[in-house]
Amino acid sequence: MSTLQNFADRVRPDRVLELTRRLVSIPSVVGNETAAMEAAAAVLKPTGATVSILARTPERPNVVARLQNGPGPCLVFNGHLDTVPPGNPELWESDPFQPAQRGDRLFGLGALDMKGSCAAMLHAVELLAAHPEAWRGEIQLQLVCDEEDSGHHGTRYLIELVQAGALPRPTWVIGGEYSDLRVMNAERGSFKFQIRFEGRSTHTATARVDGVNAIRHASMAVLALERDLTRYHPEVGFPVISINKIEGGKHLSQVPSECVITVDRRLILGEDKTSALDEVRRTLDRLAQEMPGFAYEILELRDSFGRERYGPPNATPRDSAVVKAVREAHRLVTGAAPEWFVDWFGASDGRLFRYEGIEMVTYGPSGRGAHAANEYVEVPSLTVQARTCVAATILLLQSQEPSKDGGA
Ligand SMILES: [Zn+2]
Repeated sequence: MSTLQNFADRVRPDRVLELTRRLVSIPSVVGNETAAMEAAAAVLKPTGATVSILARTPERPNVVARLQNGPGPCLVFNGHLDTVPPGNPELWESDPFQPAQRGDRLFGLGALDMKGSCAAMLHAVELLAAHPEAWRGEIQLQLVCDEEDSGHHGTRYLIELVQAGALPRPTWVIGGEYSDLRVMNAERGSFKFQIRFEGRSTHTATARVDGVNAIRHASMAVLALERDLTRYHPEVGFPVISINKIEGGKHLSQVPSECVITVDRRLILGEDKTSALDEVRRTLDRLAQEMPGFAYEILELRDSFGRERYGPPNATPRDSAVVKAVREAHRLVTGAAPEWFVDWFGASDGRLFRYEGIEMVTYGPSGRGAHAANEYVEVPSLTVQARTCVAATILLLQSQEPSKDGGA
């Protein structure tokens, strides 16, 4: 294990910081990722990796770097270089596109989500490329676009290339979304749908005579549905139901005949869209019994590519080789076993690999303010992440020493 420790120690914190600063200083708001991809490709080319720009359409590129060293498993590191927009610039204490360091914190848009992490993985690949004696098989770094939107041009596209045989099928994937250096082996699912409430229009003056106000019924439904769900799963935490949109009403003096609410439901392992809808119907059917004229229907929601807005909860077993390797690597690097990351995480590209049957684990840096003003990453956590990536790779792809009798 001391060799492993030696390799992990070769990670250069100054290099990780330099790469983080470089990526943060290149704006890459989702939809405009090209310049950041070109910068990442320029870092990867000197390592000797085969660097490809892979794109469904030219203006939405991804960078895939492949290091190949004989037959063996394929370990993929995956991170996204796109960010959400900076929001109101007045709320930022420094320019969101100018990395600004205060103490151990590096501020900037995407510093945490997830350019710092991409920099840590880039440097891990630089180091592993220089030491092919330490591993066998293939190491791949995927830097993708479009994670903050649908993933259609990013990880989804790369998985289609795997399905088509144009990229090797990953044996394991390590995703670098920020996780406070904790290990996340599972994600909640997400299910978005709408409920339409139907009333009966009339003049406000006769509202109490023959009107049925759809906004009133929708409001009763919102109050009944929007509550804490207390079931708990030890690998993904609590489910969530949140009513995030409401639309209804047309005219100031007309009782509304229609109101539509949009529901975002996060599902824990053991739940699916059928069980979630059954639960909603039970609540609404109870209201219908109490309120004459209460009528609703559930509407399906699809994204702009026609996909259902549903992704089931997903997990990689905690005893999978990649989960165990990341845990062991973190322990070697920090001297302590990592914690599990369980509560309140959103959906990442990691789920797309699990839906494809590929074992995937998330492990990334610490910081705060993702998708908000004054986002920052804790710089020392990036060094730990890079070291853990190096050590986990060697654990998973350890080279087979030739045996004495000449066999390989
Ligand atoms: Zn992210």
